[in-house]
Amino acid sequence: MRLRNIRGSREVIASSDYVVHEEETKAGSWHQIFHNTHPIHIEIGMGKGKFIMALAKAHPEINYIGIEKYSSVLIRALDKMKQEETPLPNLYFIRMDAENITKVFAKGEVERIYLNFSDPWPKDRHAKRRLTSKEFFARYHKILVTDGLVEFKTDNRALFDFSVESVKEAGWKLRALTYDLHKEEELNKDNIMTEYEERFSALGNPIHKLIASY
Ligand code: SAM
Repeated sequence: MRLRNIRGSREVIASSDYVVHEEETKAGSWHQIFHNTHPIHIEIGMGKGKFIMALAKAHPEINYIGIEKYSSVLIRALDKMKQEETPLPNLYFIRMDAENITKVFAKGEVERIYLNFSDPWPKDRHAKRRLTSKEFFARYHKILVTDGLVEFKTDNRALFDFSVESVKEAGWKLRALTYDLHKEEELNKDNIMTEYEERFSALGNPIHKLIASY
């Protein structure tokens, strides 16, 4: 998702109380930023933030960080935050490329990583850019707690098959896997639909999901 450049979005992001800036972060400092020791869950490529905002509302006992590469997309999440009646103290956003994730989080600082409808990068030569490549799993291993989880959803079968292989190649284990999430009672129980999930399941596409840990 890359939206038309929105004039002034960088300035709005720079002055937002909901945004932590990559250059100001130091790996290992997130519990200080949240002023508590609650577990930290992150979503990489959060888009307009619907999913992570719903999670943050439902789980005040967990700290959430939504990561998005583009200002033009992040600003939509900030608009949504402004519409909230009460601020969500357990949610921050950061605009950054996930390639730098190990600079922003320390080993063991994160308990769970959500990847939802990640960009497929269909060309083979771009495979390393996929957020479920083995190169990204190696980065995730560097920031997750022991037994920390990566949860990935997509309707893109080719990307999903690639991701299942990446999990194995990276030396991780599959904890759960389904090719039709919305029909799996147990896995779908607490499912929160993302923007893309709503759009693609309305077209009749089955949603694939895997959960992996190292
Ligand atoms: N997760 C949302 C959903 O399911 O509705 C949005 C999905 S959209 C297809 C993928 C999002 O990931 C885009 O907003 C894109 O800008 C972001 N993204 C892609 N690569 C990224 C990266 N390397 N670091 C951070 N965000 C990234």
